[in-house]
Amino acid sequence: MKADAMISEEEARRKILDAVHPLPERRISLLSGLDCFAAEDCFARLPLPNFDNSAMDGYAVVATSCRAGERLRVIGEQPAGLDRQLRISPGKAIRIFTGAPMPAGADAIVMQEDITRDGAEIVLNVDVDPGEFIRKRGCDLSEGQKILHKGERIRAATLALLASQGIVDLAVGSEVSAAIISTGDELVKAGEKIQQGQIYESNSALLQGLLQGCGAIMESAEYCRDERESLIEAIERGIKSQILIITGGVSVGKHDLVQSTLRSLGAKIDIWRVAIKPGKPFLFGRVDQCAVFGLPGNPVSAFITFLQFVRPAILKMLGAINLDLPAASARLVVDLTNDGDRPHYVRGKLEDGKFTPVGRQESHALFGLSQSNALLRVAVGELLKAGEIVDLQIWDG
Ligand code: AMP
Ligand code: MG
Repeated sequence: MKADAMISEEEARRKILDAVHPLPERRISLLSGLDCFAAEDCFARLPLPNFDNSAMDGYAVVATSCRAGERLRVIGEQPAGLDRQLRISPGKAIRIFTGAPMPAGADAIVMQEDITRDGAEIVLNVDVDPGEFIRKRGCDLSEGQKILHKGERIRAATLALLASQGIVDLAVGSEVSAAIISTGDELVKAGEKIQQGQIYESNSALLQGLLQGCGAIMESAEYCRDERESLIEAIERGIKSQILIITGGVSVGKHDLVQSTLRSLGAKIDIWRVAIKPGKPFLFGRVDQCAVFGLPGNPVSAFITFLQFVRPAILKMLGAINLDLPAASARLVVDLTNDGDRPHYVRGKLEDGKFTPVGRQESHALFGLSQSNALLRVAVGELLKAGEIVDLQIWDG
């Protein structure tokens, strides 16, 4: 291999996804399921609605006897809840409330706003058509219909749908735990005094947020100097998690010890250097059962390589089907070209259907990153003109 050889993003992603597998499923209570991924298909046990019912507060009637000006005798009342098994015939009405079961014989509801009450009778102010304001059994969902696909993310509305079926627990993928090691002699922990030449360590905060955002748990985050013995010890602790993310020290400098240290611990290094900007020195390997990701120390490089390579691996381990970032199209506000040798992920802001690059497009430029919400991948040699519609990856929201 040439000293500066790189593999493509696609190849890197394929190698990573070949190396990681969904974790065993577990059963959890329904209410703990938010943002988990379904480990099995689910089918409706009950239709929705489960019985014909009223969509309004009003009166159940027989539509054929209901022209404006007509009088109907109110012969009973059916609130939401137990079916009182009432029955009506033409010329009669039953007081009814939203969600209440339809009385036998009734084929429409007239809203209470559309009648005038007169003692035990009502006078209709409108004509009534059959079927009006009735929610028919099964009109929303049929019994046996698939309501959840294996690998689908469980959202609030999914939980409500499952709850509507009386489901109390469900099978989902297992949790993924991650350890983080931030390396670099220049790094200082938040809360400590900083000296000339030092910087506050920020990648572990970034990674904790990104891990949470894709449903993984940060088990530990530690800081490590560019020093082999400490790195060995930190890696030995970190590989007890399912994923280990090391930032910094993966490049070619004299103080970049991550790759050689991993090798000395028996790691199998599958990837080092990917054609991606920013993020070229990205590394992926395995020590025993642990998937190890080496991300460049520059914050924007760590961010981009996390989203392109670590995130899909985590999602696959969690049992997700869709491993891609949400996509959107937008009108590009400026011209953009890429005359480099790697695809460039431009950080920018998607707002009102328009995409504007923000901040300095350099790998250390954390402020610009913090103002962005979307990425535009500009391929090698691509020339994009202002006004063009482009496809974006959304990383925020
Ligand atoms: P490295 O990948 O170790 O060569 O680091 C590249 C750049 O990223 C250097 O400017 C580092 O100071 C910076 N850097 C490395 N790790 C971190 C970190 N955890 N937080 C913030 N900046 C970092
Ligand atoms: Mg370093």
